[in-house]
Amino acid sequence: MQQSKLNKSSLQQQSIKVYVRVRPLLKKELGQECIIKTDQQKYVVIEQSTHILKQEYDQVFDEKVSQAEIFKYISPTINKALQGYNTTIMAYGQTGSGKTHTMFGSDWEYSLNISLGHQSTFIDDLQIDQNHAGMIPRTIYTLFNNLQQGYYVYCSFLQIYNEKIYDLLQDHKVPQALQIHESKTEGIYVEQLTEYAVNNLYDCLTLMKRGEKNRMIRQTTMNLKSSRSHTIFQLLIETSKADQGGQLLRSKINLCDLAGSEKINKQESMSNAHLNELKSINQSLTTLGKVIQNLSQNNKNINKLPIPYRESKITRLLQDSLGGNTLTNIFVNVAPNIYNIDETANSLKFAQRARNITQIVQANSINATDQELVNKLLKEIDYLKQLLN
Ligand code: ADP
Ligand code: MG
Repeated sequence: MQQSKLNKSSLQQQSIKVYVRVRPLLKKELGQECIIKTDQQKYVVIEQSTHILKQEYDQVFDEKVSQAEIFKYISPTINKALQGYNTTIMAYGQTGSGKTHTMFGSDWEYSLNISLGHQSTFIDDLQIDQNHAGMIPRTIYTLFNNLQQGYYVYCSFLQIYNEKIYDLLQDHKVPQALQIHESKTEGIYVEQLTEYAVNNLYDCLTLMKRGEKNRMIRQTTMNLKSSRSHTIFQLLIETSKADQGGQLLRSKINLCDLAGSEKINKQESMSNAHLNELKSINQSLTTLGKVIQNLSQNNKNINKLPIPYRESKITRLLQDSLGGNTLTNIFVNVAPNIYNIDETANSLKFAQRARNITQIVQANSINATDQELVNKLLKEIDYLKQLLN
């Protein structure tokens, strides 16, 4: 009997890739700059009285490096997702350091003057846009450009705020909080999270915009600060039929814009409810820090430390991306001004730890049992129905 290609996929060791990106100085910061030098695109160099350091990363981008150039480091991983590898790209850093710019981009939809009803113009425009579109639209573009027949793509978009998970693709002004579950076949997933079937670039980008719009609306109606929430835009890729070896391929791309990593100002007077809210938000980033720290220690030590994935929603959802079967890329964004130097140093500390983490990765394949195939057909019917809507 012929062996399935996927079965041959061997285990590979792969370190988490960490990229540091220094954003340009903003007008209002003139006169308060902190010189963050980059050396051969590999080192970050800071020589500022209290902070003297030279650290190595997978790649360091200064303020002149364009979104398109940066995406060149990401695109090979996106192509791996089509071969069944789970992939995560996330942005970490304090508020205002350029995370959303890196992941989503700034103003690119306006600068392109796109007409949403006009698909081809949109695609051409995205191709020539070098500066504005971030990693998420570029990932979507690359995915659909390289997608061959026989794949299904599903898209979801969620936000974690105050340890509650909300669906950004449901247009309720005050949405219901969703729960995390785990199953053998699906792994860790969010129950009732909408998964839209998408079969082209245009539909997928439209969903991304819809989620961004909901994020903005809720910022007002629920008084929910976007810099204090995490968002995950997720693409699920599946082969539509089992291959000759009876294998189905399934992979996930997580694109994550994390909440601002800065410490909360304790001097600020605030209500108890507000304080609790801020505590739980901060706790998720503290947990993320602990997870990264313990994983990086475990790479060196024989006595393994426990990893507190379950202590926060974001680490639970990214469990596989941090310590499991995922090709993970982390952008650590930093701002080049003097009053943020402590936060910059903290972000770089996080970045150094993340660099120590090695993962064992393998393409995902599922043995297509009869039940799997029945589920597959049911899903296929749903998929086709959705496309007709
Ligand atoms: P964060 O999401 O980390 O809070 P933003 O992405 O919103 O930060 O960035 C803060 C500001 O800096 C925005 O006005 C954004 O457009 C600008 N910015 C960030 N990074 C860059 C960059 N590489 N090039 C140009 N402008 C940038
Ligand atoms: Mg942001």
